[in-house]
Amino acid sequence: TIIVEQLNKSFGHRQVLDDIGFKVTPGEMVALIGPSGSGKSTLLRHLVGLTCGNRSQGGRVSIMGREVQMGGRLRRASRSQRCRTGYIFQQFNLVGRLSVMTNVLIGRLGSMSRGRALLGRFSADERARARECLARVGLEELADQRANTLSGGQQQRVAIARVLMQDAEIILADEPIASLDPRSAREVMEILERIHREDSRTVVVTLHQVEVARRYCRRAIALKEGRLYFDGPIAELTDGRLQALYENAGLDEL
Ligand code: ATP
Ligand code: MG
Repeated sequence: TIIVEQLNKSFGHRQVLDDIGFKVTPGEMVALIGPSGSGKSTLLRHLVGLTCGNRSQGGRVSIMGREVQMGGRLRRASRSQRCRTGYIFQQFNLVGRLSVMTNVLIGRLGSMSRGRALLGRFSADERARARECLARVGLEELADQRANTLSGGQQQRVAIARVLMQDAEIILADEPIASLDPRSAREVMEILERIHREDSRTVVVTLHQVEVARRYCRRAIALKEGRLYFDGPIAELTDGRLQALYENAGLDEL
């Protein structure tokens, strides 16, 4: 369970998150939507305690019964917290010069100690497990290739395999398909949806296209100018509500 209560965040005088509260129960797949600058990424980062320097001004986040330590950088979030939460980025964040396999194995370590990965100190069991994770995203044959030789869609699937290797209960994905062509985007969303369904993982995914959100998620949380604009079944997001949500934004976001 993810619980967010009265979360506030300002950068200077600008309030970026304004009294945000919601709950996500285990096994849900939730789309986080809203215009550019509405605070989606900032909110997602708060869920892992990555608050960008200055502290969040009040509020509370807890994940699976444990309070997320705010007000710091990654190293302040406890290791176990980080391991329960897998993060997927728009730009994949693989180590380009390492093999696909090693990038997946890094999921075993948490994000801080890549040294062991570089030294190749993994057990046969860990390697077998990494192969299984790669098979689940359809990339077993590319295990020995360098990560930076893969296409964007393939790199994002490696990032998902790394989260699988991490055995994260909760997957947070910030615009995972924003840099991908439509076909790769569909593949990535289908893989995320399948993991959510088959392994009952909780997924919170920020998406620019409401149509994509509709296809893969039952629930939407919408932010507008840092405030919670909507939280409920995505089917209840009527055209009128969507227009109001994106009223000052570019048409391409509708
Ligand atoms: P997009 O859809 O473009 O990714 P978003 O909804 O993810 O937008 P955020 O990245 O969370 O929006 O940004 C929300 C607001 O906070 C923006 O006005 C942004 O300029 C501001 N902001 C984000 N990070 C910082 C920072 N480190 N310092 C100052 N302002 C920031
Ligand atoms: Mg963002």
